Amino acid sequence: MAIIGFIGVGNMGLPMARRLQDAGHDVRCFDASAAALGRAEQAGLRASASAAAAVDGADIVITMLPSGAHVLDVLLDAALPLRDGALVIDCSTIDVASCAAFHEALGRKGLAALDAPVSGGVAGAAAGTLTFMVGGSAAAYDRAQDVLRAMGKTLVHAGAAGAGQAAKICNNMLAGVSMLAVSEALALARKLGLDSGKFFEIASKSSGQCWALTSYAPEPGLVPAAPSNRGYEGGFASELMLKDLRLAQQAASAGQSPTPLGAAAASMYAVHCANGRARLDFSSIILLLDPSRARADAKETT
Ligand code: NAD
Repeated sequence: MAIIGFIGVGNMGLPMARRLQDAGHDVRCFDASAAALGRAEQAGLRASASAAAAVDGADIVITMLPSGAHVLDVLLDAALPLRDGALVIDCSTIDVASCAAFHEALGRKGLAALDAPVSGGVAGAAAGTLTFMVGGSAAAYDRAQDVLRAMGKTLVHAGAAGAGQAAKICNNMLAGVSMLAVSEALALARKLGLDSGKFFEIASKSSGQCWALTSYAPEPGLVPAAPSNRGYEGGFASELMLKDLRLAQQAASAGQSPTPLGAAAASMYAVHCANGRARLDFSSIILLLDPSRARADAKETT
């Protein structure tokens, strides 16, 4: 069993660290927020007084932080006592430039590193069913297997350093764009007088079929497990979708890859978040395209 230094025990990091501890690893946590660290302690995890104390002597260091700036802040700190032979795994969703920077800096020190962003949200983290998309050497990936298996169900070695982040932002751009397309189609179908259930029955067996429609429909009553049936509470917040769409735009600009639909999706999610819906699940974007739904909901609840 490994000694693991875990930095960042927020919404995702806390349940991930618990899965590691439950699997028998010796987990030492740190978070810059005293409240987050307190919650980790209450959940039975061992809290360290600093990032340095958490990683001291650790075989594996895991970071689960908000952005690339936070990851570089922690991992590039020259005073961080990473031991020779330690493996560093960053599970945060971050920009490709910061990802390349931490791989390069740790490589210069002779340390193995992986970018391993996740899909599956807080529920997947608690259940240990996350999907990990991993970038880095095959040797580092092999070493990480046991630890990643304790937190996830699906592991994919996407390729060399940075490939995990590339997969994550491309996937989420696809999810954001397709959720908008499904929302537009449902809004238009309603305007044309089509029954939504009938349209769903037809499109889910026709060329319009996609995950955003058949597993996560933004209109209530079509897919029972979808957040649309719970007032768009839970699920994957619109503000997190906006973050990932912006990361995709940064990467697209740097690589001069045209992503006009990704750019449109980023703009629309920015408006949606500014309208006060940042915390709602990302399928709530249908309320931006068809405001009559929001007005109808408001009438029902008053
Ligand atoms: P969060 O804000 O709940 O947790 C991040 C934690 O990092 C916070 O507790 C914060 O105090 C801590 N932190 C920030 N700077 C720090 C530092 N320098 N040292 C130590 N701790 C520091 O965020 P989250 O929802 O847990 O997401 C974490 C990452 O996972 C993000 O990159 C996010 O995009 C990604 N992600 C989130 C979800 C989700 O559903 N929440 C899903 C997939 C991926």
